Amino acid sequence: MTLTRRVSAFFLAALAVVLTTFSTLLYFGARHYLLQQFDQQLHSALQTLTAAVEVESDDVKFDQHDHNVKLAAGEDEIHWTVVNETGRLIASSQNLVLSSPARDLFLVIGKQHLLEPDEPHIRGDWRVLQRRLAAPEPKEESLRTSMEHATLLVTAGMSAAETFAFLRRFAILSAGISVLVWSVAAAVGTWYCRKALAPVSQMANGARSFHGADFARRLPVALTNDELADLGAAFNGLLDQLQEAFERQKRFAADAAHQLRTPLTVLRGQIDVALRRPRSSEEYRDTLNLLGEQASELSRMIEALLFLARSGSNSAMVTADSVELAGWLEQYLGKWNGHARAADLVFECTTRESARLPVTLLGQLIDNLIDNAVKYSPMGSPIRVRLERADGNVVLSVADEGIGIAANEVPMVFEPFFRSSSAHASNKAGTGLGLAIVAQIAQALGGKMECTSSIGAGSRFAFVRPAVTEVQSELMAGAIDPS
Ligand code: ADP
Repeated sequence: MTLTRRVSAFFLAALAVVLTTFSTLLYFGARHYLLQQFDQQLHSALQTLTAAVEVESDDVKFDQHDHNVKLAAGEDEIHWTVVNETGRLIASSQNLVLSSPARDLFLVIGKQHLLEPDEPHIRGDWRVLQRRLAAPEPKEESLRTSMEHATLLVTAGMSAAETFAFLRRFAILSAGISVLVWSVAAAVGTWYCRKALAPVSQMANGARSFHGADFARRLPVALTNDELADLGAAFNGLLDQLQEAFERQKRFAADAAHQLRTPLTVLRGQIDVALRRPRSSEEYRDTLNLLGEQASELSRMIEALLFLARSGSNSAMVTADSVELAGWLEQYLGKWNGHARAADLVFECTTRESARLPVTLLGQLIDNLIDNAVKYSPMGSPIRVRLERADGNVVLSVADEGIGIAANEVPMVFEPFFRSSSAHASNKAGTGLGLAIVAQIAQALGGKMECTSSIGAGSRFAFVRPAVTEVQSELMAGAIDPS
């Protein structure tokens, strides 16, 4: 079932309930009001008739002419009888003629004292009211004249057939109007629903027409400024991000292929040269050494590419250790002791920080930064590794006084395969992958990389990570060194 149908069906079902309830309430309201009016009329007629009955202690009399019984205007439809205790008809209304179908009914009801006073008795379409008037101590029948009676039963009734016919017509009319309103609402509602939800179908069709890596296309967004427009815009935003990621991947793959081709070409060239003529075993060894170096370079590059291709979650899976950073760094930097630039390496620490992180990754990050500092700064110039706290962050930086990077190139240094013009000019070999790896590690460690540099003055690369709070730090102190 389509959304349009579901929404329309719900709306129409709700409307059907409202219309049915409304017309039912209207019908019963009208019925109650009309019957109440009807009974009131009957009541006042009975009142007029009983007023004409003269009740004395030993008899009751009814003389319609003496008391001038006149029913109110509009009450000429009322039928009435006055019957004495023996069932003899004393008086009746003009309209109660012999042939009247009401006569039999009245004569039967009029002779039976069945009715509660003031409660209308209902026989088919007829509504009847009756009252009994009796002498408290009636005299002997033989002593009574023909005008005198022991009891008189006054009965008044009127046919409600016309009222009921009117109510039937009213019910049919209100049902008809309800059906008409419902049908118009069904037509207009379905049309409106279809129109309101048309952007959803358009978006679905748009999405269906996308093929493979066709990230340049976008969904049609309705200019309705509502939730659907929001959905379309959000989906297109997602496509923007996908397109950017896809293009980055494409660039990365193309750069990777390009970078791998260079050492492979060098390898092939050296193999061709070596095979051009017979060579001494010494020459073969030299060539093989060269080839071995190229192969190592290639495998380093492939390792780096694999690292970058792995998602961040893989890096996060490396086990985290709780460390006291200053002590750990001092110990870790000891591995550079045998290096030609060991004397240039300066470690400065202005804070004592603890952290919980995978130290293997942190070591890889520092090694990459020191490698670069060694490569791009002259022998004898200092390479400062500094651990400090700034603005609630722990900052671990590596600064050198080397060739530096042009200001306009600084924002690109963490892009894979980027190499600065100063690095090209200084003829330093490199792949441009080291800093991309550093940036990825920094992210996996919950921080980020920053770079400041100027040509000829040197560069500073800093890993910035929010410092742990004192409570966290105390908790970790327990975990690090219980002694
Ligand atoms: P590479 O293998 O080229 O060193 P990296 O990704 O490590 O690759 O560095 C990317 C580029 O950033 C380098 O080619 C170089 O231009 C610049 N760079 C990195 N570190 C330094 C530094 N300490 N001093 C000057 N330039 C640097």
